[in-house]
This record gives sequence, structure tokens and C-alpha cells, in this order.
Amino acid sequence: MKTLSMKALSRLTAIALAGSLASAELPANAETPAKQLFGRMTLPSNSNAASHGFYSKGCLAGAVAIPVDGPDWQVMRLSRNRRWGHPELVSILEQLSVKAKRDGWNGLLVGDMSQPRGGPMLTGHASHQIGLDADIWLTPMPNKRMTYQERENTSAISVLSGNGKGPYVDDRRWTKAHEALLRDAASFGEVERILVHPGIKKKLCDTVKGDRAWLNKIRPYWGHHYHFHIRIGCQPGSPGCRSQKGTGSDIGCGDALNWWFNVGLKPPKPSKKPSKPAKPKPQLTLSGMPDACAAVLKAPAKSADAAEFKSSLLQGFAAPAMDMPARVDPLAVLSSKPIEAASSSSALSVAGSVLSAMSADRLPVPEPRPLR
Ligand SMILES: [Zn+2]
Repeated sequence: MKTLSMKALSRLTAIALAGSLASAELPANAETPAKQLFGRMTLPSNSNAASHGFYSKGCLAGAVAIPVDGPDWQVMRLSRNRRWGHPELVSILEQLSVKAKRDGWNGLLVGDMSQPRGGPMLTGHASHQIGLDADIWLTPMPNKRMTYQERENTSAISVLSGNGKGPYVDDRRWTKAHEALLRDAASFGEVERILVHPGIKKKLCDTVKGDRAWLNKIRPYWGHHYHFHIRIGCQPGSPGCRSQKGTGSDIGCGDALNWWFNVGLKPPKPSKKPSKPAKPKPQLTLSGMPDACAAVLKAPAKSADAAEFKSSLLQGFAAPAMDMPARVDPLAVLSSKPIEAASSSSALSVAGSVLSAMSADRLPVPEPRPLR
């Protein structure tokens, strides 16, 4: 026991307490939406790591948590309890933090990964369900360790022009270190796709010199200008994991990219016919998910200690004690702030000298992705 610091101890106690509460609330039946079942899980199942299903419909057994602090990373929005993933994903994020630091990126701010047992979420992403997706902020880590509250309230900074409206990158906000970070992320063989805003893809297409083959992994998508999204492939030991179609070898700087600026990012044309009110989509229940996911939900939990990824990078590293709440609230996610909602200039200022080199304007909440 004496080898555990007080900080580590209180963190583990908090997680363990929450774990014991996990299944106490809300009786579940066949109609209970799967996002409620998975959203209330606070610890992973005690089994070997395995992804079941697809990125946007599946679950994760045997997840591990990335530690909330590492030498070159800090995890944000801890109340959401989404710092879980397949061990290979966590390992890649940690290696990326070192690599990117060497290339001029001050450290990673880690956003949403998966829930402790993966699955659909109460808010936010359609994907991130099988432990192979992670969001990394396009804002570098500040030189200080943020408190729990600062990690809840600090906003990310868009790299787009027009205070985040785009569609192009703002050259005062874009740096060579952003490019290096994305190149480093793409350099891992396990990483299959990196999702960024089309404006960022265009910037890379216009400016990357030398080897450009890695641009193939950089895929344009709506949003993704406050953070980018790393997706790794199905890992060994996950026979039930369904792979995504390959990206081919085209670097995607031609017509496919133009489509975004001519069509994809434009508001949808109003149709002449009066639109029928959209039918509400039936809620996904457990029966619509891979069979293995029912067992993942029911399985006993890993001990809180075993659930934390044991990183060699943490040897000799210590972060200040954190004012974590007494227990994780599985529903805290409903009130968690989106990363892009700038609350105040003071929230931005905590990011310190690194951020002040970039513009710290108040940023508008971006428009939602158009319906298609
Ligand atoms: Zn994402």
C-alpha cells in the first residue's frame, strides 16, 4: 500500500465506489436503449481486450483507462468517464505524445475515447463504440497541470478562419506543429484513419512537402476543427471486430476534396416539396447489437487498479494531486460542456503561454452538421 501515493489512492477509491453503484439504478428491460445500459457502466469488464462489432455499433471487453496525466498528455472532461480504450489504442496515444513533443507539439490534450464497456453514448458520437477511436484536441497542452475544474471548463480553439466558421484554416492559428502532430499520428501502422475538417485536409494538401503518402489516412469530415479523430484498425484477439473499408492509395487532394467545398460544406438546398416530419428513429436496444455485447455488459468488473493502463512512461513521473469528485457520476455526461463552447476568456487563459501564442478570441458554437 505504501507505494501508492495519496493521489493515486483517492482516484482508485473514487472509481471503485462508482463501480459498485453501476447497476444499482434504473431497472433494465428489453426496451431499454442500449446507450443507457452502456452509459451507466463505470468500470470495464474483467476479461481480455476484445472489440465486438463496428465502430458505430458495438462494444468493448477488457478496456483500460489512459492515466489522467502523463509526462506529455492530460486527459480532458474527466466527468464523462470516456478515457477508456483497447490497450493498443492507449499505447499508441502515449507513444504519440512523445513523438509529437519531439516534433514541437507541447503535449496532447486527450478528449473522448470510449466508455468503460464501449457501446453507444448518451451524448455525442455515433462511433467511439469499440475502443479504437480517440479524439485529440487541436490545442496543445499548456505548460501547467490543469485542475479537474479546468479540464471541465477549458475550451478548445478552432483552427478555422472566421472564428471557427471556416471553411479554410486560419493561418494565424495553424502551425507547422499541427502538421507534425497529424503526420506523427498517421505514422503508426495501426492507425487507419484520421478525421479532420476539410479545411485542414486542404491545408495539408497545399503545404505538405516531401513524403505525402500519409495524407491518404487524413480523411475530411464535418466538424473536427477543434479536435481530430484517430481510428485504429481491429486488433488481434477481436474476431468479432468488423473492419472498415480500406482507404486505397489516393492521397485525396483532388476531386474528392473539392466536393467538400462545392457540396459537402454548403447548407442543404431547401427542397420544393413540403418535407414530411421525420419519423423518430427507433432506439437501439441490446438486441440490435452484436450478441457478445450482452455478455460484456453482464461481466464482472475489473478492479479499479487493474483497469488503469500501466505505462512505462509514468515511471518517475508525478502530477499534482487532483481534486477528483468523491465518485464518478455515470450521468455527468449529460451536463458536460462541449469542448468548443468557449465559456469565458479566463477559461482560455489557463492554457497559458502556449495558447497565448494563438488567438484566444471567444469562439462561437459551430453550427450543427447539416442533415443529409
Ligand atoms: Zn471522434
